[in-house]
Amino acid sequence: MNHVADQANEPVMRIRCECGRWRKRIVIAGRLMPAFEACSCEGYEQAQASRDAKVKRQIERQKAENRQKRISRMLLKFGCNDKYRNVTLKDLRVVDLFNQEFFHAATEFAHGERQGLWAYGSVGTGKSIIERAALNGRIRAENGENAFYLSASRMIDLLRPSNGDAQARLKAHALEEYIFGPCKCLMIDDADKPNITPAYVALLFKIIEHYHMAKKKILITSNCNHSELRDKLKVANLSDGPAIVRRLMEICGKPFELTGAVWYQGKLKRRS
Ligand SMILES: [Zn+2]
Repeated sequence: MNHVADQANEPVMRIRCECGRWRKRIVIAGRLMPAFEACSCEGYEQAQASRDAKVKRQIERQKAENRQKRISRMLLKFGCNDKYRNVTLKDLRVVDLFNQEFFHAATEFAHGERQGLWAYGSVGTGKSIIERAALNGRIRAENGENAFYLSASRMIDLLRPSNGDAQARLKAHALEEYIFGPCKCLMIDDADKPNITPAYVALLFKIIEHYHMAKKKILITSNCNHSELRDKLKVANLSDGPAIVRRLMEICGKPFELTGAVWYQGKLKRRS
């Protein structure tokens, strides 16, 4: 046996307490434990408690980071990876009067003071970017874990995959579990853009009904107003269609009509 190496690997048998006394290594049944005897001095308990708290904080921080990474990976896979993903309400300048009223509601939503937001209007009036900024406000407030963005077209593609292979079914299952589970705030963009099929209306109804019952948050945008949307959905499903619009208005209030323009000051992130 190499004597020098043994000395270098000599285990630490005692450490000094803050008070100066030695604390001996704990040995149980001849085995060295990774701990030292407590000291009876006054400062010891407190110092030990603060050391424990520090370790606990480190573990908690690590856990939160890992959770955040896991969620980010999932969000990037399924949605929330659009060009608006970093937009905040502070980046937006709203010039039109109607839009200003909506912007105010969006600010309330970002502060957690509203359960829903619904904006309608033609392309380019800023409904998506304002709602997305409000959603981002919630994402920041909730530490990223509870809010999700999907365009309606992507939502139906992901949750009701038409090709139906194993990978697509697995994705659909995971996303469905998230939307009906931990997700507390869902944005459905361009709700009247996909083909209004019975399958789409049934899916939308299931989601809106769940968010209504569970008192979760909904953000929605559409090109048409509520009575036009009701008529469109009714064609595909006579009872669920009108129920969707009714529930949406209970959650979001009367939809805001956007007419003007929104100025965005900042760079949009490319999809990666
Ligand atoms: Zn001591």
